Amino acid sequence: MTSLENLAALQEAIAQAALDAGREPSSVTLVAVSKTVPADRIEPVLQAGQRVFGENYVQESAAKWPALREAHPGCELHLLGPLQSNKAQAAVALFDVIHSLDRPSLAAALATAQAKTGRRPRVLCQVNTGEEPQKGGVPPSEVDSFVLRCRTEFGLDVAGLMCIPPADQAASPHFALLKVAAERNGLPWLSMGMSADFREAIQLGATHVRVGTAIFGARLREAPAEGAAPRADVTA
Ligand SMILES: *Cc1c(COP(=O)(O)O)cnc(C)c1O
Repeated sequence: MTSLENLAALQEAIAQAALDAGREPSSVTLVAVSKTVPADRIEPVLQAGQRVFGENYVQESAAKWPALREAHPGCELHLLGPLQSNKAQAAVALFDVIHSLDRPSLAAALATAQAKTGRRPRVLCQVNTGEEPQKGGVPPSEVDSFVLRCRTEFGLDVAGLMCIPPADQAASPHFALLKVAAERNGLPWLSMGMSADFREAIQLGATHVRVGTAIFGARLREAPAEGAAPRADVTA
C-alpha cells in the first residue's frame, strides 16, 4: 500500500476506535511520525491534507521542515524524541509542541530558550510509566511535583503527558496510569499510542496518537532506541 492508502485506512481506524470508545473522532489528533522519512515522501501526505507531524531529531527537522512548511501553510510540528539541553533553543524555534520534557535541567533550558526566541511551544511531560532505567521520563511518583515546577518555576505551557510503554508489556495499564496522572494535574492532552497500540490508547483517552510505520512503512534508518538517550546533557 502507498502512504496515502495507509493514511486513509489509519484515519478510518482512528475514527472507529474513537466511536467505539464513545468519543468524538475529532477529539483524537493524528501525529504523523515522519522521522527518517525524506521530504519527497512526506510531500504527498501533506498534499492529502495531513498537517500534524512528529519528528525525533532537531537537526533532521531543521533541514527538512522549513521548506515543507513554506509550501504547506498550517503545519504543526511536534518533537517526540529525547532532547538535549544544548538543542533546546533550536527546538523551541522550530517546534510547536515538545513531547519529551523529562527533567528540570531541560525545563530550565526551555525557559531560557523561550525568553530568547519569544516563542512558547506547548510541552508535554514524558512519564517513564514502566520505570525503565534506559528510558527517558519522570517516574510516576514525581509527575505532580515536576509538572508544578515546570509551570510555576519555569513558566512552561504544560499541556499534557506522554508515555512510551515498555516494549515487552501490555500497553493498556501504562495508558491508564498516564490518564489518571493527567486528570490529577488538570492536563487536557494525553500523547500515547503508536502504530501497534493506538486503538487501546484511544480507548483509554489518548488525545494524540503518534503513528509512523503504519503510514510510511518500515523505516530504512532506524532511530536510536526510542527514549533511550542518556539523561545526561551530552552533545551527540
Ligand atoms: C518513532 C516513534 C513513534 C512512531 O512509532 P511507529 O511504531 O512507527 O508508529 C511514536 N512515538 C515516538 C516517541 C517515537 O520515537
